[in-house]
Amino acid sequence: MFITSVRNYDYNEMTNDLLALFKKYHYLKIGGIGKSVLDNDIPVIRWGEGDCRVLLCGSHHGNEWVTSLLLMRFLEILCKERNLENEEIVDLYSEASYYIIPMLNPDGVNLSIHGLTDEIPDDIRTKLIAANNESSDFKGKWQANIRGVDLNHNYDAAFLRGCAFAQKLGITGPGPTRFSGEKPESEPESKALVSFTKKLMPDICAAYHSQGEIIYADFDGKATKRAKRIAEELSRLSGYNLDQTEGVASCSGYKDWVINELYLPAYTIEVGLGENPLPFSQFDKILKDNLKMLIFMGQINRF
Ligand SMILES: [Zn+2]
Repeated sequence: MFITSVRNYDYNEMTNDLLALFKKYHYLKIGGIGKSVLDNDIPVIRWGEGDCRVLLCGSHHGNEWVTSLLLMRFLEILCKERNLENEEIVDLYSEASYYIIPMLNPDGVNLSIHGLTDEIPDDIRTKLIAANNESSDFKGKWQANIRGVDLNHNYDAAFLRGCAFAQKLGITGPGPTRFSGEKPESEPESKALVSFTKKLMPDICAAYHSQGEIIYADFDGKATKRAKRIAEELSRLSGYNLDQTEGVASCSGYKDWVINELYLPAYTIEVGLGENPLPFSQFDKILKDNLKMLIFMGQINRF
């Protein structure tokens, strides 16, 4: 493995790893779905040439960067095992196409790891401190993007219901978590993911979060029977429990929008157990729990 076992996996680490992977495995197709508020490219990597399109997205939330590391490590394993002619992975390459977006929220990840840095312009910095209860301490806690919008509450799926739930919790403006924004897809990161998803029309989508060792698979009872059967298999392969979201977590998320708008199987997968950011010591278990499930996603058309 040459993806470094760094404890804090920031945007720079991720892009360096991506370049290193591309140098070694030229067949990888690397593109971008758009840019973040701070103009960081949001990369997408395609692995595979098959019909089953799997969309994987990590780090909607700043302090959940362990999910970026997980998806990058998964990509590296796919490349390496294919080179070693591992039969299952060679078959997977012709059966599936994985589209991996390791870090949807690069600005939020960097803020959560490094706090206020020079790359943040003064006007945004002032607003950030106001959004953070007048504190300059962002490390470990920040989930939102750099404008204080929680990207996973910024999608067009019962958006107003989500805002009402948030208001009951006292969330009425930009902050570290759960502020939905002024309108659905108001943020470049969520807008880019919506447009990419619509264009790709994947066979399955999974948005990776931490933590809880839980899979959420429905939105307002709209998941199809097949999507529910797939969810049961994902749960069996990972050992993660299936659960229903409630209250403020039950609407305006990415998987909610995919289920509601595109009628496709979509899942929120919460990896690991404990307090975010998860201790690095959990990484090996997280990878082990998720590996079979991630491979299965490329095989669902047999299912
Ligand atoms: Zn999350």
